[in-house]
Amino acid sequence: MKTFVVLMGAPGAGKGTQAKRLQVSLGLPQVATGDLFRANLKNETALGKLARTYMDKGELVPDEVTVAMVQDRLSQSDCEGGAILDGFPRTTAQAEALDELLEEFSAKIAVVPFIDVNQDVLVERLAKRAEIEGRADDNEETIRVRMEVYRSETAPLLNYYKEKGLLVKVNGEQSIDEVTADLTNVVQKVM
Ligand code: AMP
Repeated sequence: MKTFVVLMGAPGAGKGTQAKRLQVSLGLPQVATGDLFRANLKNETALGKLARTYMDKGELVPDEVTVAMVQDRLSQSDCEGGAILDGFPRTTAQAEALDELLEEFSAKIAVVPFIDVNQDVLVERLAKRAEIEGRADDNEETIRVRMEVYRSETAPLLNYYKEKGLLVKVNGEQSIDEVTADLTNVVQKVM
């Protein structure tokens, strides 16, 4: 059976940290679109150059470009048993494209865990991450744009998945270990 998990959460909710941990606890590869874009950026590919113009501003890379990149990644053999999607989909168009893509693979989304964290805590965490990791898009202005993009483009997906009966909320304000344990439980139930 294939297990495709869509990990949802606002910027700073801990998606990346948790997806890396779930990769180990569940044995499914993490497919993080932000990481894929950053790898392209580092290797100075055409895709990376294009993505940079959006990432630097905190805006979303166009859907066609993002979906094509995900399609390519999910077609690789390590994703045959499924994957943990981190940072994708971020728009309704991407979510619909993902449904179609998975249908081609005779698969479906197994569950959509949502790491729930209060807005004030998010802003605090992102500011801290900016200090520690020095991510280029973690400055005050891009953080503000990314939050706004999340609110207007990505948050509506919570309803999209809720209506499909796939959304499961997890308290993201617990310790990192506790969040991992909850998420592992949620996914193992559907594996
Ligand atoms: P992340 O590491 O997930 O915070 O992503 C960093 C940046 O990469 C985002 O601010 C966007 O510019 C871009 N990006 C990542 N995932 C997507 C996506 N699914 N759709 C569009 N742009 C994305």
